[in-house]
Amino acid sequence: MQIVQPNFDWRGKLTPLKLEDVQYIIIHHAAVEQATPEAIHKHHLGRGWAGIGYNEYIAKDGTVYICRGDHVGAHTAGWNDKSYGICVEGNYEEETEMPEAQFRALVERVKYNQARFPNLRGIAPHKQFAATACPGKYFPWDKLIAALKEPEEKKIYRVQVGAFKNRENAEKMVQLLKEKGFAAFIREEVIE
Ligand SMILES: [Zn+2]
Repeated sequence: MQIVQPNFDWRGKLTPLKLEDVQYIIIHHAAVEQATPEAIHKHHLGRGWAGIGYNEYIAKDGTVYICRGDHVGAHTAGWNDKSYGICVEGNYEEETEMPEAQFRALVERVKYNQARFPNLRGIAPHKQFAATACPGKYFPWDKLIAALKEPEEKKIYRVQVGAFKNRENAEKMVQLLKEKGFAAFIREEVIE
């Protein structure tokens, strides 16, 4: 998944989004089969807005474009300062299949963003807040919700600096690391 932050030429100054105010991650579709974020930016400028209204935009190839980012968007009337809008390229009112790369990127971005908003109440389709079909009747909503429930892999990355047959040498190494400010300790292991 590639994340890109284009340099949009905004009209006026954007308002920072208060992360603690975000109640919903709102999902949109572009409602056109193909559109670059730059094209949407122009289109939204034409509506008199500051520029592309979505906080993030995900292309069909899975590329993530940070648009408004952590600034108040223009995507859901009445909710822009209380939500974070993610839009996917495509028209899922007519297209029945979302490309896998796009779907995976969307799942990753929703998971990533969910963890950033302390008062989040949930994720919601645009149509929950307005009379619109957005993000479209073929948008894979149930599949998205199911993917969000899948547990994260429980991975940890252990750093090891040495393994000694002689306890004294191990203690010297720990001493050295502690002098450098690392919280080192010895773990005894029996090797078969
Ligand atoms: Zn929408």
